[in-house]
Amino acid sequence: MQPKTENGKDSILNQPPKENIPAVQPLIWRNIIIIAALHVVSIYLFITRYTEAKFWTWIFAPIYAVVGGFGITAGAHRLWAHRSYKAKLPLRILLAILYCMTGMTCLTRWIRVHRTHHRYTDTCADPHNSNRGFFFSHVGWLMMKHHPAVKEYGKNVDLSDLAADPVIRFFDKYYIPIMVSLCFVLPSVIPVYVWNETWFISIGAVIFRYAVALNMIFSVNSFAHIWGSRPYNRTLKPAENPTVAFIALGEGWHNYHHVFPWDYKASELGFARLNLTAGFIEFMAWLGLAYDLKIPSVEIVAKYRANKGDGTIDLSG
Ligand SMILES: [Zn+2]
Ligand SMILES: [Zn+2]
Repeated sequence: MQPKTENGKDSILNQPPKENIPAVQPLIWRNIIIIAALHVVSIYLFITRYTEAKFWTWIFAPIYAVVGGFGITAGAHRLWAHRSYKAKLPLRILLAILYCMTGMTCLTRWIRVHRTHHRYTDTCADPHNSNRGFFFSHVGWLMMKHHPAVKEYGKNVDLSDLAADPVIRFFDKYYIPIMVSLCFVLPSVIPVYVWNETWFISIGAVIFRYAVALNMIFSVNSFAHIWGSRPYNRTLKPAENPTVAFIALGEGWHNYHHVFPWDYKASELGFARLNLTAGFIEFMAWLGLAYDLKIPSVEIVAKYRANKGDGTIDLSG
């Protein structure tokens, strides 16, 4: 089906060009300064003060990052962006809360960017087009306005299902106060009041956790679009990258994911293969909170491997 423009006519540009078409993309200095400062402060704090953090602060920060991470992987990504399973109201609320712990942009904007990425992968209309290099796809794309093609083709991405979900509407409406409370304030307060961490170290740990977690998620768009095997479609840039799968809770099996984006496992083998998010969704299904978990048939996956794959077996990545 050809993309449609807003007035329903076929777009003049049926497919966005693969090669980069130079366009004016003004820099967003606010983002550049925030991202640069976040990294400089995080590295400085880690190098100079890491010995002062209490034991429980070292345990708490990574757990907070992983728990919040499920809000992105199982929530914004596999549930809302791809509809790879269905979730009852309590789970949707939980996932939206976890998502806010990570300090991303609001849910609807994240999902719009991701659906655009899948529809126009590695073209001008892909917000983090990996053909523009590692830095651009990792974080550079957040430092400038989108390429005009992203806006032009992004109109073809349907978001009507999100507007119909009251959980998305609520969390979008009150996003900033909820996100600031859950991503920054709460994890700063807990170490101070529960195990007597100093305010300085507690806030420093929050800043450091935020910087590390952002890079773990960014790595899906950069590392997993550049390095790895392509057993399901050798013509796609997204690749099977076990390192990214490990740090991004199972989101690194990216060649498979771009071929079967509606599979709740986002990989062929699921939980057994560096995929905590698949285990999380299966646990929620066991509790009765998730249902209609979608997977392709074994035959279809084998057919893709045989006809389009690069020939790698890839059971270990
Ligand atoms: Zn991708
Ligand atoms: Zn996806």
